[in-house]
Amino acid sequence: MKSETENRTRTSPGTGKPLHSRLRHAVFAVLGLLLAAVAVFLADGRHPQFHVMTGLEVETPLGSPFEDPGVYAVLTGRLFGTWERRLPVRTVGTVDTSVPGTSELSYLTDYLFREYRCTRKVHVVDRTPPVITLYSREGDEVNWLEGYREEGFHAEDNLDGDLTAFVSAERRGNAIFYTVTDRAGNTATAERRPNYTVGPPELRLLGAQSLTLPAGLDRYADPGCTAADTFGHDMTGRVEVQGEVLPWRAGTYDLVYSVTNGAGDTVRTLRRVTVEAVPLPEPVEPEGKTIYLTFDDGPGPYTDRLLDVLDRYGARATFFVTCDQPDYFRCIARAHAAGHTVGIHTASHVYQEIYSGEAAFFEDFRRVRDLILEQTGEYPVICRFPGGSSNTVSEFNPGIMTRLASDVTDLGIQYFDWDVYSGDAGGKGATTESDRVFENVVSGIDGRRRAVVLQHDIKSFSVDAVEKIILWGQENGYTFRALDAASPPVHDDIAN
Ligand code: ZN
Repeated sequence: MKSETENRTRTSPGTGKPLHSRLRHAVFAVLGLLLAAVAVFLADGRHPQFHVMTGLEVETPLGSPFEDPGVYAVLTGRLFGTWERRLPVRTVGTVDTSVPGTSELSYLTDYLFREYRCTRKVHVVDRTPPVITLYSREGDEVNWLEGYREEGFHAEDNLDGDLTAFVSAERRGNAIFYTVTDRAGNTATAERRPNYTVGPPELRLLGAQSLTLPAGLDRYADPGCTAADTFGHDMTGRVEVQGEVLPWRAGTYDLVYSVTNGAGDTVRTLRRVTVEAVPLPEPVEPEGKTIYLTFDDGPGPYTDRLLDVLDRYGARATFFVTCDQPDYFRCIARAHAAGHTVGIHTASHVYQEIYSGEAAFFEDFRRVRDLILEQTGEYPVICRFPGGSSNTVSEFNPGIMTRLASDVTDLGIQYFDWDVYSGDAGGKGATTESDRVFENVVSGIDGRRRAVVLQHDIKSFSVDAVEKIILWGQENGYTFRALDAASPPVHDDIAN
C-alpha cells in the first residue's frame, strides 16, 4: 500500500508534488482521525448509568400510596468519567398498595438508539398492628374480692380481622398486659391496671401484738384482726391464721395472720402468745401419820354410803370422779361440802380415746372439770390419770404420758398416783372380797408415815371395807386426810 501511495505522489502537479497526492494525504489524515476517534469511543464505552434512590428493593406500607423515592440516569464511561447531564427516564409499571405483595417498576432511558432499563422491586407490606380494645365494667365493686375477673377485650387487625382469640393476657404485678401479633408480625400491646388491685391490703391486729395468759383448759380466744384493701373494702373474712396455741401447755406461740388481695399481694403480721405455767404450791408434809384414802371412777350408787361412813368417823378422803353416772353427780357436791377433796379423773375413761392425743385428753378433762365446778363452785386442783401416770395402756401414742404429766403441771394441777393398792379393780392382789381389800390396804400402809390408797367407790365390796380400814388406821395413830395441791406428790415413774 505504501509503494502505491508513493507512485501517486510522484505524479502530482504544481508545487512539485501532484495535487491528487496532497488530497490523498488529507483523506488519510481524516481517516486516521476518525479511526482514532472510534478507538477512543470504544475504549470509553460510554453508557447510561441509573441511580436508584434507596435501592433496588424497597418496602412500602400497605394501604398508603407508594411514593417513588426517585431515580435518575447519567452517562458514564471509562475514559471520561461521568457526565452530569441527566438523561430523561421513563417509569413503567405501577405499585398496588391495596394488597400485600411485590410489584416491579422499570426505569427506561435511551442512548444511541438503544433502550437501557433497570428494575426496582417494591414489596407492599402490612405494617399496621392490630388494635386491642379493653372493655371495663363500671362500678363493679364485688369481684375485687375474688381477684381480678377479666372484663373483656377485642382485637381487630386491618388484614387478619378479628384476632381476639389470639390475645394473650399476662398478669405482672398490679397490671395485666395483653399482646397479640398479626400474620405479618405486627404486635399490639395493651395494659390494664385494675383499680382494686392497686396496693397491698392493710392488716390490723385487734388486741395486743404480744399476749400473755395463764395455762388453762379453755380454748384460746384470739382477739382477732381486721383487714381491708386500699379502698377500705373489708377483707377480714379472707384472713388466714397459721399457728396454734395450746392453752394447756406453757410456751411461746406465734400466730401468723395473712391476707392476700386479688393481685396476689400478701400482707402478714404476727402475734406472739405466751402461755405461762400456773405455779403449784410448795408441798407441805402433813402433821403426824396420815392416810389419804382415794376413790376413783365414782360417783356411783355406793358413794353416799361411803360418805356416811367417812362422816361417822370424821375421816376425810379424796374422790377422783368421772362423768359416768349423772344420777350421782350430787354426791360430788356432798363430798365437797363435807370437806373431802374432789379431783379430776376422766369423763369417759376410754383409754383409746383420751390417750389418742392431748387435745382429746384435755377435752375429756375439761368435761370433768366443768362437772366439778358446777357441783362445788370451785375449780379442781388435783387429778389422777386413768391407769395412773405409769400406765402402759397408752403406749399406742408414744410419749403421751410424759407430755400430759408436764401439761397438767403447767395447768397448776397436781397429779397423784398411789402407793397402796387395794386390789379392788383387778391386777396385782386382785380381789372382790371386802376382807381382802382391807388386808391389802392395811398391809400396804403398815409402817408408812403416810400413804395414798387407791380404791374404787363404784365397787360395793370395796366401800364395805372402808369402816374397818378407818378403825384400823385410827387405832394405829393415823389421821385420814384429803389430798390437796400442796400434799406431797406421789408420782410413779412414767413409762410412756
Ligand atoms: Zn379409773
